[in-house]
Amino acid sequence: MTSGDRRRTAADEVAGAACCRRPVRLWGTTVEPGTGELGGRRFLVACKDRRALLCPACAQRYQADAFHLVVSGLRGGKGVPASVAGHPACFLTLTAPSFGPVHSRPATEKKDAVCRPRRDASRCAHGVARSCKVRHEPGDPRLGTALCARCFDYEGAVVWNARVSLLWQRTSVLMRRAVAAVGGLTARQQAEVFRFSYVKVVEFQRRGLVHLHVVVRADGPEGSGDPPPAWLDGPTLLAGVEEAVARANVPAPLGESGGTAVVRWGEERTARLLADDDHDAVASYLAKYAVKAATEEPGLVHRLDGDPGRALRRADPHTAALVEAAWRLGVRPELSSLRLRAHAHTFGYGGHFATKSRLWSTTFGALRAARARHAREAAGASDDFLEGSFSYLGRGYFSPEADGLAEVLAEAIATRPRRVPATSPSPSSRGPYGR
Ligand SMILES: [Zn+2]
Ligand SMILES: [Zn+2]
Ligand SMILES: [Zn+2]
Repeated sequence: MTSGDRRRTAADEVAGAACCRRPVRLWGTTVEPGTGELGGRRFLVACKDRRALLCPACAQRYQADAFHLVVSGLRGGKGVPASVAGHPACFLTLTAPSFGPVHSRPATEKKDAVCRPRRDASRCAHGVARSCKVRHEPGDPRLGTALCARCFDYEGAVVWNARVSLLWQRTSVLMRRAVAAVGGLTARQQAEVFRFSYVKVVEFQRRGLVHLHVVVRADGPEGSGDPPPAWLDGPTLLAGVEEAVARANVPAPLGESGGTAVVRWGEERTARLLADDDHDAVASYLAKYAVKAATEEPGLVHRLDGDPGRALRRADPHTAALVEAAWRLGVRPELSSLRLRAHAHTFGYGGHFATKSRLWSTTFGALRAARARHAREAAGASDDFLEGSFSYLGRGYFSPEADGLAEVLAEAIATRPRRVPATSPSPSSRGPYGR
């Protein structure tokens, strides 16, 4: 093969795996359409990783799918009727409480606002100043790290992360109850009158705590095609949501170590009704966060399979302290249900990063299947594989030239501007404190 041939083959390989940085190599048994004769062929499948840090091409497709999934539940499309735009919907951002002061950019527009201004020169019990007069730039590595590591409750933080999915479940039950009470409905009657659909994206703040962005929509009992009763208007929905968020709590089994005994939402939270012209901005905002990883720390991309020491070699002390707290607590019998060692690399959080209720809109699976069908039709390829005959060969391309090309492309995709506009959905929604 000439070098030109090799380049062309490599380009075909990379294009065939949709520019994935590290595709999966599979072997499949084929069936000859006319004769039924069996054969075999190796092929590549894109990794479909959600995290832009790992695979920019797959993450970008995920981001585009997330956008369509969210926006179709707000203004229709992908099988959802356009009348859904008339259902009341609200957008919430829910954060964790404070587990100790961290370096941050103040959420004010004041130009000279510093991290932690204080007139007095007080110090914590460990002799560390309680103030920080620095105006941190956006990329400052100190952002989100503790002012005093010994004052920061790392154990409380990882237990909070581990409990947040349950806290959200509890919140959604209380939401339904609060709104049912306005309509004079019992829990049983409620299900026949209205339902809530939601889509939620989990994001890590710089301080290592998760932070939820949720859209809640009120429907009739049948979902997106069924309007809620007239009395269930926007203000009623918003009041119910706010009441539920304020009241929701779940116990944290953090017995004798003295951390938070009850897990609740922090004070830094927002809830507002969505207007028609918010739909695209909210969908792109959620989609943007859906592709973020917990941390940029390369050692913490996957589950840790042994002592975290090696993975944490290059981590900053704040990140390391969170992982170590999860690892340490992971052996406690009273915390075994939290599976903290399995989730130490995500600081205790073990849930999904983008979730939706069943009747929100379409699914990621449906969007992917439609794209695969379209690609097959465009390529004129027939599906000649014998079902269930696939076996795993490994990761990466067949040729080193293709691996090299995919790496160059990944770099280019990661640094070029995003196709989906990454605008903030409201002028007032600057990141909450501690980002
Ligand atoms: Zn990929
Ligand atoms: Zn600071
Ligand atoms: Zn201290």
